[in-house]
Amino acid sequence: MYLTENGTLTAVVGNTRSMRECFELRDADAGGRIGELTVPRAETTVETPALLPVINPNLDTISPRRLAEEFGAEILITNSYIIHGTEDVREQALEEGLHELLDFPGAIMTDSGSFQLSEYGDIDVTTEEILEFQHEIGSDIGTPVDIPTPPDVSRERAEDELATTQERLEVAEDVDTGDMLVSAPVQGSTYPDLREEAGSHADATDLDVFPVGAVVPLMNDYRYDDMVDAVAAAKRGLGADAPVHLFGAGHPMMFALGVAMGCDLFDSAAYALYARDDRYLTVRGTRQLAELDYLPCSCPVCTEHSPDDLRALPDRDREEELAAHNLHVTFEEIRRIKQAIRAGNLLELVEQRARAHPAMLDGYRALLDHAAQLEQSDPVSKGSFFYTSHESARRPEVRRHHERVTRLETPDSLFLTEGEPARGDEYDESWRVEPPFGPFPRALSKSYPFTAELPERTDRAALEAAVEGVVRLVEANPETEVTLGHWGWPDGVLEAVPERVEVVDLMGDGD
Ligand SMILES: [Zn+2]
Repeated sequence: MYLTENGTLTAVVGNTRSMRECFELRDADAGGRIGELTVPRAETTVETPALLPVINPNLDTISPRRLAEEFGAEILITNSYIIHGTEDVREQALEEGLHELLDFPGAIMTDSGSFQLSEYGDIDVTTEEILEFQHEIGSDIGTPVDIPTPPDVSRERAEDELATTQERLEVAEDVDTGDMLVSAPVQGSTYPDLREEAGSHADATDLDVFPVGAVVPLMNDYRYDDMVDAVAAAKRGLGADAPVHLFGAGHPMMFALGVAMGCDLFDSAAYALYARDDRYLTVRGTRQLAELDYLPCSCPVCTEHSPDDLRALPDRDREEELAAHNLHVTFEEIRRIKQAIRAGNLLELVEQRARAHPAMLDGYRALLDHAAQLEQSDPVSKGSFFYTSHESARRPEVRRHHERVTRLETPDSLFLTEGEPARGDEYDESWRVEPPFGPFPRALSKSYPFTAELPERTDRAALEAAVEGVVRLVEANPETEVTLGHWGWPDGVLEAVPERVEVVDLMGDGD
């Protein structure tokens, strides 16, 4: 616990603080979670991770009613600034309310015009006006006008704009918005310390939903590693119980990565924008319809059409069919991610997605830089750990064992070896060494994570991680005499083993 500047007592770790009323966590895997976002004004609960299709009130490719009924959308997002600025739509929204106007039975979130601000440099509403307007038209989750600071700006600009965003959040707290939830965007450009501070500040307000803002330019430039760092920093400030929205992230290829980071809400304009451009979304990237000889998908659109059929459709119909396919793929991936969280294999899914593009691999590697942070929410026990790439050696489960191994009780003399002990009798005990985890008492062999599935042909990263486990054990137990028996591990890997450990290569062990 520590005292914040204004003297309130705050827990350092989010989960010891009282839970936010509107958000409840049900299940976790790595940084990912299944949660329930209660949206009082819509009298509904949205299961997260959730996708919010973006609806342009002036042109809908797929009607909101169809989004709910055919695709199971529980929540969508539309832009209150566009509604506010389009006279006939504004009048209708004020008269009938947003739910009637859009004909959508679920929850409706509204954006404020911040995106327009970042694109055109100027908008003509204040936070107070736009929040009141969102409340008046019946929005369920409103958004203040924050300043979306782009990546790589000067520190001075990032700080100044963050200060303005923070003032707007304080204004937003004072606007009477009834039981409309209000989001508190987290900015800070590409400065992790500013993102973290912005997260803490937003978390200390009484606002409800936390978009990590201005990451779209990073995603457009395939800077998934920088995106991960920005989100990780925001999450450190926000604490575990805050529902986090990765604003503008609509490509299904990166949902698993975003969820593993701890994001709960995603919005997609991509499904419609890409369709307009004859682009076909897949979880492994985007394809041009013109280049497809086959449709690698089983959704209704792709089972009823060949690529030639789609290409032959009139523009408007083709756009609608492509948008429908794009949405099917998008919602399918969200369901797959939720199932992966349930089954405890979200990181295996992230590893698969990381193989779709080298930039995604950078994103996954950046995610593993934050293994200690992910470890805080990762369950102690879950389904079998699958070692499917050398990056697996850096997963939070491995890191956790390396912490835990320092607390295990050791005898006076200890033999560590892969597989069965070849010469265990001379020692008080013989423990197993299993790459990538390292040493553990044989009695734990059937416990998680040592039930892991590993390839027979191990790799250097796994061996190095195992040695790291040996080092941690030896350093924590200076009184214990340790012998390490291994099967032909390369010298380079063994270099890290402390000198006082006797190392025996069992392949050449004739005695
Ligand atoms: Zn399809």
